[in-house]
Amino acid sequence: MFNTLTEHLNKILNKISNTGRLTEQNIQNTLREVRTALLEADVSLEVIKNFIEKVKLQSIGKKFNKELTPGQELIKVVKQELINCMKNTNEHLNFSTIPPAIILMVGLQGMGKTTTTAKLGKYIQKNKKKKVLLVSLDIHRPAAIEQLKVLSEQIQVDFFSPLTIHNPLQIAQDALSYVKNKMYEVIIFDTAGRLHVNENMMKELNQIYNSISPIETLLTIDAMIGQDAHNIINQFSKNINITGIVITKIDGNARAGVALSIKEMTGKPIKFMGIGEKVDDIEAFNPEKIANRILGMGDTISIIEEIERKITKKQSHNLKKKINSGKKFTLNDFLIHITEINKSGGIVNLINRLPQNDVLKNQSPNSMNNNILKKFSAIIQSMNHTEKMDPDIIKSSRKKRIALGSGTKVQDINIMLKQFLYLQNIMKKVKTGNIKSIFENIKN
Ligand code: GDP
Repeated sequence: MFNTLTEHLNKILNKISNTGRLTEQNIQNTLREVRTALLEADVSLEVIKNFIEKVKLQSIGKKFNKELTPGQELIKVVKQELINCMKNTNEHLNFSTIPPAIILMVGLQGMGKTTTTAKLGKYIQKNKKKKVLLVSLDIHRPAAIEQLKVLSEQIQVDFFSPLTIHNPLQIAQDALSYVKNKMYEVIIFDTAGRLHVNENMMKELNQIYNSISPIETLLTIDAMIGQDAHNIINQFSKNINITGIVITKIDGNARAGVALSIKEMTGKPIKFMGIGEKVDDIEAFNPEKIANRILGMGDTISIIEEIERKITKKQSHNLKKKINSGKKFTLNDFLIHITEINKSGGIVNLINRLPQNDVLKNQSPNSMNNNILKKFSAIIQSMNHTEKMDPDIIKSSRKKRIALGSGTKVQDINIMLKQFLYLQNIMKKVKTGNIKSIFENIKN
C-alpha cells in the first residue's frame, strides 16, 4: 500500500531531491560489512542469516535520496531493523499488584546479579518513588549477604537482615512477615548463582519462586557471555517464568550482539542494562544505543545523520524561501508538509483537531497515517493545475470528478480541503515557515 503512496509523493519530492534505488549489486559490499560487524559483535550465525535476509527484503528496490550513497542508505535500513528487532513491548517493570511488588533476581555467579539488585533498588526508589526493601537469599557465596548489606547502606535503601542464614526459603518467609504493615511497595530478592546452570540451583530457585510468587523475575546476563546467553535463558526458563533480562557490563569491550541474539532466539524482553560498576550505572534498555554499538559504525552513522539533517534543512529552507517570498501556499506544498508531519507521526494529531473526521476514526494510528496520506495524495494528483493553485474553485461538480478520478469520496475531499485551509491559515501566521514550529502550532 505504501509503495503507491511513495510513488505519488516522490513525483513531488523529486523536485527538491533526486532519488535512486537500492539494488542487489549496490548493497553487496556494505551488506558484507554488516555481516562482519554482526559476527564481530558476537551475534549468533543463525540470527545473522535471518537478519540479513530481512534487511535484503526491505532494502532491495527501496528509493533513497542521492545525497546518500547506497551503502549509507543500507546502513540506515540495518540500524532501523536492529532497533525493531530489539524493541520491547513490555520493557517496563510490572508493579500492578497489591503491594509489595516482588522482584526476584536470578542468574549465574559473576554476572552482576547482586550489584544489579542494589542498582535496581536505588533506581526504583529514586525514579519510581517507591519504598524498596532488599533481601539476600544467597547463603552459598561467602559474604554475598554482607555485599548486599554494604551496597544498601551506600544507596540508602532498606536491607532485611536475616535472622538465620541456613535456609533461603526461611529467609524469604521471614522477610515477607517482616514487611507486613510496613508500607514497602517493592521487595527485591537476590538469589545464589552457580558457575554453571545446575540441578541444585534450579531446584532451590524453583522453591523460592513458588514460595514468594514474584511479579517480575529478572535474569542477569553478562554482555561478554556471547552466544551462550540464549542457552542459559532457555535453561532458566524451563524452571521459572523469566519476565525480563538485564544485560550487564555493557560498558566493557563486548559489542553487545548478545542483545540481538537474546531477543531473536528467546523473545524475552531486555529491560535494563548495566553500564558500569557504580550503583548509578543502570539504564532502561535502549535499543538505539545498542544498535549503534552492535554495528560499531559510529562514524558512518553520524555522517548519515548529518546528511539527513542537511536534506531536511534544505527542504525546510525551500519552503521557508517560498513563504517569505510571499508566494501562495499551494496544495503541492500542502502535500510536502503533511509528508513531513507524517514522519513525526503527526497526521493523526492534525486530523484529530479538525471536524468531520469520523471517516478516519477507529483505525490504527499507522494505518490511519498511511490511509490519509494515500487518500490526500491521490486526491491532489487528480486535480488539474488550476484547481491545485486555487482550490476555492473546487465546488460540487469538480469534487465529484476528483473523487471518481482518485477513487475516494466527496467527503474525503472535503476533509482534505478543510485541513489544507487550516494549514494555509497557520502558514500565514508562522512567519518562519519552519516545519517544526508549524507542527508545534498544530499541536497547541
Ligand atoms: P553476581 O555473582 O552475579 O552477584 O555478581 P556481582 O554483582 O558480585 O558482580 C560481579 C562483578 O561484576 C563485580 O566486580 C561487579 O562490580 C561487576 N559488575 C556488575 N555489573 C557491572 C556492570 O554493569 N559493568 C561493569 N563494568 N561491571 C559490573
